Amino acid sequence: MIRREIVYLVDKAKSGEFLDREEMAALFDIAPFTAESAYIQHAAREISSKVSSNTAEVHAHVGINVGPCVRNCKWCSFAAVNKVFAQAGVMPIEEIVRRCRKMEQNGANAIYLVATGTFPFGRLLEIIQEVRRNLSPDTVLIGNIDDFTLKEAYALRDAGLNGVYHAVRLREGIESSIPVEKRLATMRAAREAGLALGTCVEPVGPEHTTGELVEATIIARECGAVYSGCMRRIAVPDTEVGKRGMINEARQAHILAAIRLSTQHEMIGMCWHEPSVAGPLAGVNIMWAETGSSPRDTHEDCERTRGRTVAEVRRIYWEAGWKVLDGPSLIWKSGAGKLQRKVV
Ligand code: SF4
Repeated sequence: MIRREIVYLVDKAKSGEFLDREEMAALFDIAPFTAESAYIQHAAREISSKVSSNTAEVHAHVGINVGPCVRNCKWCSFAAVNKVFAQAGVMPIEEIVRRCRKMEQNGANAIYLVATGTFPFGRLLEIIQEVRRNLSPDTVLIGNIDDFTLKEAYALRDAGLNGVYHAVRLREGIESSIPVEKRLATMRAAREAGLALGTCVEPVGPEHTTGELVEATIIARECGAVYSGCMRRIAVPDTEVGKRGMINEARQAHILAAIRLSTQHEMIGMCWHEPSVAGPLAGVNIMWAETGSSPRDTHEDCERTRGRTVAEVRRIYWEAGWKVLDGPSLIWKSGAGKLQRKVV
């Protein structure tokens, strides 16, 4: 049984109209494993397939260092407070370049250099320059790094980045030491310097309320990013936040669908982490292959543990009926970020 109210909201979302807070909350509040949950996931898939010509992308995460990070985002394995990585270590530059090139050769549509929050900025610029020199000029190169100023944003762009992934994470400033305003300022700096911005609602755990998910969805859709999406929190064992557990993929798929329906159609990308079939079935068209360090792993090289290869992610898309793009990311170059609204 599908309530008329839900049919109305789905039709409104399909027409491209923005849902307000109350309407978004009604979607997030639908119970799992119901006809209404299946209905909104089907609609989310329909919108995603339509706006992206049913074309998905594989992005590549290359984690370049490990070590305790004083930013102390409590969900992250690098948070000093979690005591997972006692020693700092950086992957040799030749190895970073080799892994980026391998991802590129294997068909990744964008390469992300991922560093912990306190990684030295000057060294980061050198690594970006070296990686850029060794990639095809049209390969999309992205940074997933610490907060930065406008001056630093220009330096990142000049070193060879096309964009950055950045998010106001759930309970930012409460379960991390980073103020929300600092995250927003970094997003503004990126856009002002001409760096494209990607974001999503993350890291979702079982304790997050409908109200929190709604506010995070609004920031993600209105911050000027080229894509949004949903990442569930991976529990780091024996940590305060890890003990709260995880949402299952069924819940994550429902949340993702509510986000898709709440987000403007110009945003053709919807991301999901970590890769699985449940996401693309509900409208996901960005997932990551991973190598090197990861804030979700306790091993220094996720390639040997939970990281997926490009081929594996492509296979997951095939299972869910998506075509996969050949060549540089269209989502990163989509210009959807020009549709910034009032929030950031
Ligand atoms: S998420 Fe980033 S900034 Fe936060 S603790 Fe982990 S590495 Fe540091």
